[in-house]
Amino acid sequence: MNNCPCCAEPMLRHIRHNEIYWYCSSCHQEMPNFTALILSNKIRKETAVMKQKNAQINKLELSYQFS
Ligand SMILES: [Zn+2]
Repeated sequence: MNNCPCCAEPMLRHIRHNEIYWYCSSCHQEMPNFTALILSNKIRKETAVMKQKNAQINKLELSYQFS
């Protein structure tokens, strides 16, 4: 169960356009799906690290070929 970050009341889960969002009936406000946001940020970071590593490997392979 997700609780509102503003008032800590339990939020209601809604689905709209295939996206999950939370609605706090106490604040009368919609809250974004924090879990999904955190997850996508984590994936983005990990992908960036992977790309960096791949670039390093490519450089190593290149220097190996030309030596
Ligand atoms: Zn609230």
